[in-house]
Amino acid sequence: NSIPKIVILGAGYAGILTAQNLQKKLKNNEADVTLVNRHDYHYFTTELHMPAAGTQPDTKTYEKISNLIDEFKIDLVKSNVTAIKPEERQVVLEDGTLSYDYLVIALGGDPETFGIPGMKEHAFSIRSINSVRAIREHIETQFKEFKKDGDETRLNFVVGGAGFTGIEFVGELANRLPELAKQYGVDPSKVGLFNVEAAPSALPGFDPELVTYAMDTLTKKGVTFRIGVPVKACDENGVTVGEGERIEAKTVVWTGGIRGNHLIEDAGFEAMRGRVKVDEFLKAPGHENVFIIGDGSLMIGPEGRPYPPTAQIAMQQGERVAKNLIATIRGQQTEKFAFSNKGTVASLGKGEAVAVVAGKKIKGWPAAQLKKVVDARYLFIIGGMGLVLKKGRFL
Ligand code: FAD
Ligand code: NAD
Repeated sequence: NSIPKIVILGAGYAGILTAQNLQKKLKNNEADVTLVNRHDYHYFTTELHMPAAGTQPDTKTYEKISNLIDEFKIDLVKSNVTAIKPEERQVVLEDGTLSYDYLVIALGGDPETFGIPGMKEHAFSIRSINSVRAIREHIETQFKEFKKDGDETRLNFVVGGAGFTGIEFVGELANRLPELAKQYGVDPSKVGLFNVEAAPSALPGFDPELVTYAMDTLTKKGVTFRIGVPVKACDENGVTVGEGERIEAKTVVWTGGIRGNHLIEDAGFEAMRGRVKVDEFLKAPGHENVFIIGDGSLMIGPEGRPYPPTAQIAMQQGERVAKNLIATIRGQQTEKFAFSNKGTVASLGKGEAVAVVAGKKIKGWPAAQLKKVVDARYLFIIGGMGLVLKKGRFL
């Protein structure tokens, strides 16, 4: 009997939690575990709106994977996955091939641009350390260049989509842009920050009272909302919205939604917007040995609607898959995945946030403190108190 090979693709929330739970419970020689990730660090996606705006250093937003896992127990492979071949039980990397007995696909998502002309080419998106560095630098460059050429469209910043990502990002930008204006000696009244949302409300589906609070707070901080107005096209000079209206801007950040990682569809898994409707054990239909978790998976909740893709569900899925893999290897009973919703906390920039926790609404400063606790708690889960302190997260 050879030792079963487990390959985990992606070291985000879902992948790290899978790896950590496997290494905690697997005994020597029970399985060979390999974790593949594009970078040698794990980034805290739920915090990326801050380094994107420049309100938190990116160094506080990632940690080396070798500090999070035990490399005596898990083989870490820093590489790009280029294809998944479920029929051959193989994964193709940019520099080699891996074969597996069990595969955990935890590759996160890709931006969903709905085929909007020019969006892929001209808009930024908030999805990795490299992408947020590019956004932060681009924003600062606009202030520098404005001082040289006086082009006022450089001072317009458009965020397409007012879901949680869009709202959290404009919250940070509303803090950051006045600072940059001061730093570069630019009249702050010339700076425009636009958040454009196609749905009839910002944060569609969220508690209406908190949506109103969020919009009022952000409006006071200088955000111009365009609600019920879809972004129709994007080019290097701005966006076309609604019935052909233009917002001229040199910076467009697309936060209009995400889909599953393209490698999932490329591998031939049946997918909806790139996400695979997994079974209650988080397996891809028809594939007993392939688990898909995190933003690449789709699960319908008890109310008949898909659970939103969040770090919260990704983490719980990672833990469940690890437990079930161990049970499978040991010939024990596996358990169905059950999501336990701990609530939602969304920041609105410095000292401001909205939250629903255990059916209770929280807003303002207390919600902002709660957000800090949630962020720190995650670091504690993956890296203990050492990581919390290293990243400077004391209240
Ligand atoms: P990810 O965390 O994206 O990880 C995927 C990993 O796979 C990455 O490490 C990536 O580098 C790697 N990878 C991708 N492609 C390849 C490849 N080809 N080869 C090798 N490696 C690859 N959710 C919450 O629950 N609470 C929040 O407060 C919250 N805030 C958010 C704020 C922002 C600004 C954003 C953008 C999202 C937020 N979310 C939040 C959503 C949450 O971040 C995602 O749902 C979560 O990151 C999904 O985890 P994942 O493991 O599926 O993917
Ligand atoms: P999303 O899909 O939740 O929101 C995208 C928004 O863009 C929607 O409101 C949609 O109506 C809008 N949109 C789509 N097309 C548009 C168009 N053409 N013009 C204008 N607006 C358009 O995506 P997201 O905000 O990136 O969130 C992704 C996931 O991550 C969600 O599940 C979310 O719950 C989660 N998340 C959670 C938090 C938090 O809990 N604090 C923060 C960020 C993200």
